[in-house]
Amino acid sequence: MLDCAIIGGGPAGLNAALVLGRAKRKVVLFDNNQARNKVTQESHGFITRDGVSPSEFRELAHQDISKYPAVKVKRVKVVGIKKESRNLFTVTTEEGKVFTCKKVMLTTGLKENLPRVKGINEYYGKSLFSCPYCDGWELRDQPLVLIGENSNTTHLAKMIYQWSHDLVVCTNGKSVLEGDDELLLKRKGLIIKKERIETLSGSNGKLEKVIFEDGTTMNRVGGFVTTDLQQPNNLAISLGCELNHTNGIIVDDFGRTNIEGVYAAGETTFSGPSQLIIAAGQGVRAAAGINYDLIMKEFTSGEF
Ligand SMILES: Cc1cc2nc3c(=O)[nH]c(=O)nc-3n(C[C@H](O)[C@H](O)[C@H](O)COP(=O)(O)OP(=O)(O)OC[C@H]3O[C@@H](n4cnc5c(N)ncnc54)[C@H](O)[C@@H]3O)c2cc1C
Repeated sequence: MLDCAIIGGGPAGLNAALVLGRAKRKVVLFDNNQARNKVTQESHGFITRDGVSPSEFRELAHQDISKYPAVKVKRVKVVGIKKESRNLFTVTTEEGKVFTCKKVMLTTGLKENLPRVKGINEYYGKSLFSCPYCDGWELRDQPLVLIGENSNTTHLAKMIYQWSHDLVVCTNGKSVLEGDDELLLKRKGLIIKKERIETLSGSNGKLEKVIFEDGTTMNRVGGFVTTDLQQPNNLAISLGCELNHTNGIIVDDFGRTNIEGVYAAGETTFSGPSQLIIAAGQGVRAAAGINYDLIMKEFTSGEF
């Protein structure tokens, strides 16, 4: 039987696997490599790894965990997790294989929905991004656009202003600016365009123009978009994990959810800001939580 099944091989799951492997725990890390940052070419802000590509980051992490023989990686999707008894879970993969484990860690990240604008996927991750901490430096002081379709638009506009004052906020026909938001942004020199966007134009993922349905265009070299985030699957819900108002799994400081034996870390807990290093750190805390709980169980009940 496994000590722990980790579902999700992004920074949270990978760092958790490293820490549990070093604690001599028998672990399987399941991953189907569908992280939302797959579209980007470089990741920034992780000390010693600034500018690394998402695939290189994972490759280096796999090299690190391969040193610990009790950790195995399965490149497969998990389709079901069942709590069979107090200290026993079964994890079922897409291929129909079943694994038993004492603890489960959900590090499944989030699913994001982009604004509904024609052509947006061509630019997302190359010149349009979602987080200025991740990609603001590369776009600094340039003519930018913010395509904002949700209530985070004003907040994100204020944030982006730190990196570039030349900012057009496009609401794409949505009423997302509340109260005196519009006035506040205009006072700082931001341009607000409420018209619906017809399409985006550019080449090789580099944005050049935003074209509006009213026939007007604006030259922009890149920018940001608001995203709507949700759990990527129903694993947490099917286990009975409580979610917060932004759909993140509620955890304590050591990744424990409300379901005994189920832990969660990284973006799936939606605690922000979205950063590799924060997800990795949360993975470490949850791994420490699991190891601690296993040790305490052994000393108090002798069950394991
Ligand atoms: C475009 C973009 C650019 C970004 N740039 C940066 C940056 O420059 N710097 C930075 O610090 N952060 C950046 N981020 C944020 C960063 O990617 C996330 O904060 C981080 O990846 C979250 O890590 P995680 O381990 O929680 O989840 P993820 O990295 O999303 O990993 C979750 C993993 O779980 C797997 N999974 C989910 N469900 C299952 C299942 N049922 N079975 C098996 N596997 C499953 C997924 O396939 C995925 O591999 C960026 C994000 C985006 C979208």
